Amino acid sequence: MAGGERNVWIAAASGEQRWHTLREAASAEENRDERNQEGWIVLEGGGETRSGNGSYRSRRSAQMRQPARLRENESSRSRRRGGGSSGGRRRGGCRGAVLSFLCGVLVIFSAFLAGMGAGWYRWGREAGPRVELSSIEMPDWIEQDLIRKNIYSRPAVSLQYVNDIVVHYVANPGSTAEQNRNYFDGLADQGQEGGTSASAHFVIGLEGEIIQCIPIDEIAYASNNRNYDTISIECCHPDETGKFTDATYQSLVKLTAWLCDAVKIGREDVIRHYDVSGKACPLYFVDHEEAWEAFREDVKNQ
Ligand SMILES: [Zn+2]
Repeated sequence: MAGGERNVWIAAASGEQRWHTLREAASAEENRDERNQEGWIVLEGGGETRSGNGSYRSRRSAQMRQPARLRENESSRSRRRGGGSSGGRRRGGCRGAVLSFLCGVLVIFSAFLAGMGAGWYRWGREAGPRVELSSIEMPDWIEQDLIRKNIYSRPAVSLQYVNDIVVHYVANPGSTAEQNRNYFDGLADQGQEGGTSASAHFVIGLEGEIIQCIPIDEIAYASNNRNYDTISIECCHPDETGKFTDATYQSLVKLTAWLCDAVKIGREDVIRHYDVSGKACPLYFVDHEEAWEAFREDVKNQ
């Protein structure tokens, strides 16, 4: 029983420490399982090792065990810390939620700005109605003979603003302004099975007469995707070339210049149907670019 009288510190897993003889300590260690997992171990002291059955532990083995137990304690502490760190994760989750929230706010704010930008692009850039179109008084050299409101030629949709005046030709040689006006009006009688949509704000006849078919604060069906920001003028012509008579031409220059001034756009804001969709309309001004440029000059100088 060498070293049987030596005292050592033993410690339980609970942290309790006792000062015992090495024998008692060894006994405690031996009976650890019976002592219901108290787990007594030798912390220090000790003496000769009586190895073989492992009943006695040397000081060294006790020291070797200690770190093991400490590691165990550390690991249990780290488990507690793990609990803490899961709390940390909760805090991290909290921070994540805050970040997500801020990101959401940023996205919504960006979308708001984008919407504003789009609104500005759509409306601000075009400056909205430059002039109250309905308040414009028509001169007496324009004959008003408005066509009936109908889905095919006068949808009674408000024209909010005007960016260009669009020039057309009727593509029906020899027809009069009145005939073309009546054609537009007659489209109202197509009924449900009808499929033709056409009209213009003004028709200029072979004699230079000007008939207004649609109020200038409503859209006409003449210029494809530009119906919503243009005023359209149809011109009659005597033959297939589409060339206008002098009377038609002079009325066109006069009406175009007056409209530009009335709706407060530039005298240069005059385009052909061709410039909108590529359609050969007005034919003569498409075939003769110099005639078109001369017309634009005439409008400026009107
Ligand atoms: Zn046209």
